[in-house]
Amino acid sequence: MTSLVKAWYNGTVPNYGVVIGYYNESYNDYNWLGTGDGSASYTPSLTINYNGAISYITLTKGVPVSGTITQGGEYWYRFVAPKTRSYTFCSSGSTDTYGELYQGSTLLQSDDDGGEGLNFSITRNLTGGAEYLLKVRGYGSATTGSYFVLVKDWQSVSKPTIKPRSAWGARPPRSVLTDREVANTKRVIFHHTANNFNSTNINSIIDQIQKIQNKQMDNPDPIERTDDIAYHYIIDPAGNIWEGRAMNKQGAHTKSYNNDIGVAILGDFQQRLINPIPNTLNQNQKNAMEALSKWLCYSLDLKIISPGGIDEAPINWHKNAHQVIDPNQVCPGGNSIPWIQNTLRPNIIAWGS
Ligand SMILES: [Zn+2]
Repeated sequence: MTSLVKAWYNGTVPNYGVVIGYYNESYNDYNWLGTGDGSASYTPSLTINYNGAISYITLTKGVPVSGTITQGGEYWYRFVAPKTRSYTFCSSGSTDTYGELYQGSTLLQSDDDGGEGLNFSITRNLTGGAEYLLKVRGYGSATTGSYFVLVKDWQSVSKPTIKPRSAWGARPPRSVLTDREVANTKRVIFHHTANNFNSTNINSIIDQIQKIQNKQMDNPDPIERTDDIAYHYIIDPAGNIWEGRAMNKQGAHTKSYNNDIGVAILGDFQQRLINPIPNTLNQNQKNAMEALSKWLCYSLDLKIISPGGIDEAPINWHKNAHQVIDPNQVCPGGNSIPWIQNTLRPNIIAWGS
C-alpha cells in the first residue's frame, strides 16, 4: 500500500486510484470507498494524505551503494548521466533483485537476472545531463536481503598505436567482405595463430603475418579458406598491434561469433606433439592485449558484465566461445588462456566500473 501510494505520488504509476472495500457479513455485500473513478464528476469517498515525496538516493558512477530489501519494499535511486553514452545499472550480492529504469514516469527497461547470479543488469543509452530513476525491489513479494547497487560505464581511453595493413604488406581481400554490425559487437575474442613464433625482429614479424594470411587465404580446403586474414587485429611478441581485416567487416575467426572482434596473438601457446615447447605470453604482449581490450571496450561501448556472466563478458577467447560446439578447440592455447581468463578479463571489468 505504501509502495503504491509512493509510486502514485511520484507519477510512476499514473492514472491509478485507491479503493478500499469493506465487507458486511450480515448482508453478504461489499461497500467501497475510492479516490476516484476517472471521471471529473466523481466525489472521492476516500482521500489520502501522503506526507513526503520519495527520497531518492543519488547514484554516482562507479560508487556502489548498499541497501536492504524488506518484504514488499521498493527503493528509489536517482542518477544524472554525466554524458551521452551507455551506462549499466546493476546489483550485486546474493539477494534476488529486480531493477526498473525510469525517465520521469516512463519505464525504459527492466531486468531480473541479467547480471551475476540473481542480480539485475540494465544497460541503456542515456542522454548527458538528463535525470534517470532506478527502482530496486526483490524479485518476489517475499524476497528480503541486502544488496549493492552500482552504475558504471567504461573509462575513456585513447586509441593505442595500430600499424596499418600497408605496414605489413597485406594482400587485398579475395572478394568484397561482408559488413559487420559494429554497433552489435559483444565481445573481443582472442586467438593464437598456432605457428610457434617468438621473434621481436620487425622483418620476421612482417614475414610471419604475411605467412599467416597466405596460409588462410590459400588453404586448399575451400571450407577453411578465407577471403582475407581471419582476424581484425594481430599482436606480435614485441607488443606491436597490427591491423588485420577491416574493423567494419565480419571476421573469419570464430564460427557463430564473427560479428565480434577477433584478435590473434602471434605464436603457438598450446603444447602438443608438433609444438612440444609452446610460446609464452611476455609482458609486452600482455600490455598490448590490455591496451587494445580497453580501447575496444570503450570505443565500441561493449556491455559490461561481471565475471559471473562468463559467456557475455566482453573479453573472451576461442576455446571458451566454442566449448559446446567444438570441445576439442584449444585456441589460444594453454599458455595464454589462464592469463586472459584470470587476469585480463577481471582487470578489464574492474576498470570498466
Ligand atoms: Zn582461434
